Amino acid sequence: MQDVKDITIVGAGPTGLFGAFYAGMRGASCCLIDNLDQVGGQLTALYPEKYIFDVAGFPKVLAKDLVRGMAEQALQFHAPVHLGEQVTGLERSSENGHPFFTIVTERDAYPSRTVLIAGGIGAFTPRKLPLKDVDRWYGKGLHDRILDPKVFAGKRVLLVGGGDSAFDWAVNLQGIARSVLMIHRRDGFRAHAATVRQVRELSAAGKMELRVFWELKTIHGGDTIDGVTIVNNKTKEEERVGIDSIIPQLGFISSLGAIAQWGLDIEKGEIKVSQTMATNIPGVFAAGDITTYPGKLKLIATGAAEAAIAVNHAVHFINPGAKIEPGHSSNMALFGQTED
Ligand SMILES: Cc1cc2nc3c(=O)[nH]c(=O)nc-3n(C[C@H](O)[C@H](O)[C@H](O)COP(=O)(O)OP(=O)(O)OC[C@H]3O[C@@H](n4cnc5c(N)ncnc54)[C@H](O)[C@@H]3O)c2cc1C
Repeated sequence: MQDVKDITIVGAGPTGLFGAFYAGMRGASCCLIDNLDQVGGQLTALYPEKYIFDVAGFPKVLAKDLVRGMAEQALQFHAPVHLGEQVTGLERSSENGHPFFTIVTERDAYPSRTVLIAGGIGAFTPRKLPLKDVDRWYGKGLHDRILDPKVFAGKRVLLVGGGDSAFDWAVNLQGIARSVLMIHRRDGFRAHAATVRQVRELSAAGKMELRVFWELKTIHGGDTIDGVTIVNNKTKEEERVGIDSIIPQLGFISSLGAIAQWGLDIEKGEIKVSQTMATNIPGVFAAGDITTYPGKLKLIATGAAEAAIAVNHAVHFINPGAKIEPGHSSNMALFGQTED
C-alpha cells in the first residue's frame, strides 16, 4: 500500500501530465498511474513522430517533443509516476466523514483523497500477432514492448508492422542487432516520411532488409525462437528465415476496462462530467478524451484546460477553505516570482 495522496491521476497522457503539474502548483500531493511503459498517452503510443499544430505556444511541435516538455513541466514537483500498471479497481470508504478512495492496480494499492480519471480512450495494450498459440513465445524471443534495446544485441531481429514504431525501431536497432528484417503486409506506411526514407536507404545499403507484401506465418523454435516462416501475400511464396527475436509493432488496442464498472455515469464509453469536471461520484473527477459534456472537443488543448479545472476543484473539495481560483503562476513565489 502506497502513502496517501491528495489526488491520484489515472492516465499519464497529456491531460494527466498537466493535471500533475497543476496539483504541484496548488501544493497538492499526487501520483500518476499508467498502463503504458512511457508517459504521453496517444502522443507517445500512436503518433510520436507527427507534428502537432494546434497547441498554444507552439506553431509546430513533434508529439514526442511536446510530451517531453509536458513531462518536464509536470514532474518538477516530483510526483511519483507508476508505469506499466493498469488500474483495475476503485474502492470507496470514508475518512473523518470525507470520501476516501483506494485505486487498485494489478500490482499495488494507492490510497487517495480524490481521483482524477484522465484515461483518454482507455488503457492501451499492444496488439498481438494474429497467430495461434502466439502467447507461448513470450519470454522466448517475442517482445511486443521494448524496455531495453540492448536485449537485442547480436540477435537476428524480425520487425512486423508499417507504422512509426516499426520504422523507429528499424533505425534504432542498427548497430545493436546482428540483422534486422522488417516485413509489412502492404506497401503503404503510417510513418514519418523522413524515417521511411532512412529505412529505405539502410535497406539499399544492405544494412537491413525491408520487405513489403510479406506476412508472418509461423514461428519456429523450442525453448527459444530460432526461425520464422514468412509468406508473400501476393505470390503466396513462402520462405523460412533464421530469426532470434520478433518485435510486432501492430499498434495498440484500447479499452475502458474496469473503469466502466465503477458506478460512473457513462454515455457511449465516455464519462459524464459537470462544468467542474466532477463525475457523479463525489471526489472523483475526470478530464480529457475520456469525458463527455455538451460542446466537448477531444483535443490536447481542451484536455489541459479540463485538467486545470478538475485539479482546482479537487483541491477545494479536499479543503473547502482553499480557493478554487489558483491565482497567476506569473506571480507565484513557488516559481521564484514576487507577488504584484
Ligand atoms: C493520430 C492522432 C493525431 C492527433 N493529432 C492531434 C492534434 O494535432 N491536436 C490535438 O489537439 N489532438 C490530436 N490528437 C488527439 C489527442 O492525442 C488526444 O486528444 C489526447 O491524447 C487526449 O489526451 P488524454 O490524456 O486525455 O488521453 P490519452 O492520450 O489517451 O492518454 C490516456 C492515458 O491513460 C492511460 N490509461 C487509460 N486507462 C487506464 C487504466 N485503467 N490504467 C492505467 N492507465 C490507463 C492510457 O494508457 C493512456 O496513456 C490526435 C490523436 C491521434 C490518434
